[in-house]
Amino acid sequence: FVMERPKNEPILSYAPGSKEREELKEKLGELSSKEIEIPLIIGGKEIKTGNLGKCVMPHDHNHILAHYHMAGEKEIKMAIDAAIKAKEEWENYSYIDRISIFLKAAELLSTTWRSTLNAAAMLDLGKNVFQAEIDSACELIDFFRFNSYYATKIYTEQPQSSKGILNRMEYRALDGFIFAVPPFNFASISGNLPTAPAIMGNVVLWKPASSAVYTAYHIMKLLQEAGLPDGVINFIPGPGSKVGEIVFSDPNFGGVHFTGSVNTFNSMWESIGKNIRNYKSYPRIVGETGGKDFVIAHHTANRKALITALIRGAFEYQGQKCSAASRAYISKTVWEDIKDELIETTKNLKMGAPTDFSNFVNAVIDKAAFKKITGYIEYARENAKILVGGEYDDSVGYYIKPTIVLTDDPHFKTMEEEIFGPVLTLYIYDDDKYEEVLKLCDQTSPYGLTGSIFAQDREAIRKAEKILVHAAGNFYINDKPTGAVVDQQPFGGSRGSGTNDKAGSYLNLLRWTSARSIKENF
Ligand code: GLU
Repeated sequence: FVMERPKNEPILSYAPGSKEREELKEKLGELSSKEIEIPLIIGGKEIKTGNLGKCVMPHDHNHILAHYHMAGEKEIKMAIDAAIKAKEEWENYSYIDRISIFLKAAELLSTTWRSTLNAAAMLDLGKNVFQAEIDSACELIDFFRFNSYYATKIYTEQPQSSKGILNRMEYRALDGFIFAVPPFNFASISGNLPTAPAIMGNVVLWKPASSAVYTAYHIMKLLQEAGLPDGVINFIPGPGSKVGEIVFSDPNFGGVHFTGSVNTFNSMWESIGKNIRNYKSYPRIVGETGGKDFVIAHHTANRKALITALIRGAFEYQGQKCSAASRAYISKTVWEDIKDELIETTKNLKMGAPTDFSNFVNAVIDKAAFKKITGYIEYARENAKILVGGEYDDSVGYYIKPTIVLTDDPHFKTMEEEIFGPVLTLYIYDDDKYEEVLKLCDQTSPYGLTGSIFAQDREAIRKAEKILVHAAGNFYINDKPTGAVVDQQPFGGSRGSGTNDKAGSYLNLLRWTSARSIKENF
């Protein structure tokens, strides 16, 4: 059985007077007016440890949405036992029985759960309504549907047989449990990291990001409502390094599905390396880390499209995307044409609470992010020029104005390091130095995630594709470097940006199976 290829979930408009707008407003009111208690969910049971963390709203950090219980050593071991116990039955489900649970989750999210998850992402992650809709509704639905579809393709792919011989491939689950460790910034990634391995018959320990436990918990409840059997995915918020230490030293560890920082991913490889002789199989290590994503404007660039791409690429979701446009190389003649409009439009971006749907920019996720980003802004104020923005205020929420920095040093700190906030740095080059700039861009950052080239000239596009071959796993021509869509632009990069196992394509699902070839003679 191969499922028909799904369609991407349509984005709802939330226009004034629309049904979805009314429902979402109501849900925002309901969720923000109560404080909930979030337990661990292990083997389907709610577990409380009394060791509590809190979920607050980034735009109003005195407002508590929830307290959550954190896992300690005992609960992590309990979660491993629960996963291993669930494994035998789960991996022996037919793949149709498995995908039907995730297709049901997609259906629920597309209808009755949509406003709940969107409201959670707006309040907990600081997303405006559009950013929530494309993430916690559309992309997460797409992951559930397309991963189910890819699974059916993989399971039915078989080797050739001949007279008197039957050859088969059995797509087994991995020999152990999977550890899923998502970032705070996308509900869709948070939901995809545990469920992609689970669709392929694996059992999972899911440690949500500490600043996104509230949204992740709602995804867990959705999966339970869709019929996910107990123990298949175990929800264990807690301190990352502590959880990791216990997980990686367990002989049943079978793989990790990660999105987050380079440092954390490197530490994971090191811990896994230290324990390598204890495992039953070589674990699968799948991770997407950071980016220092570029936009390059050739002198033939379409000016209007470029301005839109810079603003949306750099400032949507406050620049807190691995794919965010954070360094731009702009030809001098283009710069002369766009600078006034770029600065003026940036200055006028409306900032405030996500509950007011007219705000484009909301707060950044937490105090640590606020400190890190404003540190870069102060560095830029001293050592380069701030063209617009540069102001910030964390008295109520963690607000930072969209900021554009201009430098004449292509190796300036904010041209090289990932900031993960609303800061775009520009470097202006002479029109005839295009090829040098392509090489410079390629060699400036250790990352290789996303990047855009703006040019009308075909030869300029060809050169960029050739020179920047490893500089971006997602390469955009005349578009912003953010907003990859499942099954349209499979997502991921190499170099310092990860293992490039392309979320939103069957390539990712292939990592969660270990095939057995079976030959039978008659
Ligand atoms: N897939 C997202 C995009 O294309 C970025 C994901 C991330 O931040 O990790 O914008």
